[in-house]
Amino acid sequence: MCSTPPVQSEDVERFRARAAGWLAANAEQVAHDSNTAKARLTATAGMTVDDQRAEVAAAKAWQRRVFDAGFAGIAVPAEYGGQGLTAAHAAAWREEAAPYARPAGPTALGNALALPAILHHGTEAQKRRHIPPILRGDAGWCQLFSEPGAGSDLAGLTTRAEPNGDGWIVTGQKVWNSFAHLADWGLLLARTDWDVPKHRGITYLLVDMKEPGVEARPLRQATGSAEFNETFLTDVHVPADAVLGAVNGGWGVIQTTLTNERAGLTGIIGFSGIDWDAWVEHARAHGALDTAVTRDRMARMYTRWRLAGWLQQRIDDARRAGIDPGPQSSVVKLLGTIDIDLGASLGVDLQGAAGMLAGNDAVDGGAWQQLFLGQWSPRIGGGTEQIQRNVIGERILGLPPEPRTDKDRPFREVLRN
Ligand SMILES: Cc1cc2nc3c(=O)[nH]c(=O)nc-3n(C[C@H](O)[C@H](O)[C@H](O)COP(=O)(O)OP(=O)(O)OC[C@H]3O[C@@H](n4cnc5c(N)ncnc54)[C@H](O)[C@@H]3O)c2cc1C
Repeated sequence: MCSTPPVQSEDVERFRARAAGWLAANAEQVAHDSNTAKARLTATAGMTVDDQRAEVAAAKAWQRRVFDAGFAGIAVPAEYGGQGLTAAHAAAWREEAAPYARPAGPTALGNALALPAILHHGTEAQKRRHIPPILRGDAGWCQLFSEPGAGSDLAGLTTRAEPNGDGWIVTGQKVWNSFAHLADWGLLLARTDWDVPKHRGITYLLVDMKEPGVEARPLRQATGSAEFNETFLTDVHVPADAVLGAVNGGWGVIQTTLTNERAGLTGIIGFSGIDWDAWVEHARAHGALDTAVTRDRMARMYTRWRLAGWLQQRIDDARRAGIDPGPQSSVVKLLGTIDIDLGASLGVDLQGAAGMLAGNDAVDGGAWQQLFLGQWSPRIGGGTEQIQRNVIGERILGLPPEPRTDKDRPFREVLRN
């Protein structure tokens, strides 16, 4: 492990100053103006797999620099390559690093999803094997959870892992797997017992994406970008020591991954970086700023946008204080995504018939159309709007739960498509 040793006695504010100084000297500041945001939206349309590969390589190189400078895995124990500092130090790093470019794709998923799951549920050998490469930027990860028949109802998954000598043979199909075609490792869920209720027969596996039988095929979306995949698993050998947690105990491990995924997703307030002045200018440019209907839609959008921002702050404060915000995250995510719907539709509606154009023929190179077409990613990913409403209804408002007729039945007997 060759990262700079952490300064053990350093208090949070001294650490913050050291982090800020290093970032200012080494990191690339991201412009937060609306023109940059629009350029980013239009750039996704023409992105090729080679462009994505270059981005992944850059993200890994950046992660390596962060590691070498002693800022990777701030709250991760030193024996696994981290800095062994506190959650408050980690929060200070996140705040200082926010204005700068961040690693994306499999590098980000490794840090955000794989690392906490392995740290909490892994064996000593798994932690020593997998955490250092994540922190060094050597290994990128993807999440192989959803299936064509199991998304919101994740526990209904049917990818199977059969015991085979020294491990498992996995067969099935996954879908919507972000960056699976560029990942080195995958967090995979498979059914290992069909004779118990659905939540109790799932095992969580750490899968080498280079293993024969793993095939990730990118899916191109309406926006033109293709970072999702359908992933086919055909007789894939997974060794016994790749089980994370207990065999058939995967549902408990999943909760760590989903909690961390939701924590990342609540930060979706706003319109991909297009600021309020740019909206006002967009309405003015199309002669709509003085019409009552537009003013009403804009006022509604602005009010909800601000409310969601304040609620997000409350959640951030709770996290900083070490308090789990629980189902409040669902309120913020839902508010944020309804806002995206309101705003994305308005951005295109304001253009009238020209709203049907795309790419360079359209206003601002088609940025507003990209915002419109891309709205379903945040509205579905990390739990759909309907699922957030269920969570709010059941866990905040105390409404009666949905009938769950398959909860106590052996999965083999549950009717499926
Ligand atoms: C941006 C993004 C990134 C993603 N990344 C990954 C990834 O890396 N790995 C991965 O495995 N998956 C990933 N997914 C998949 C994601 O988890 C699923 O799309 C999501 O869970 C919804 O499942 P589904 O698409 O199968 O829709 P379904 O669950 O089939 O839902 C279809 C419709 O029915 C509604 N519905 C379903 N159940 C209920 C209910 N009980 N009550 C009311 N309405 C209901 C839904 O709200 C939705 O409108 C990603 C998705 C997106 C959009």
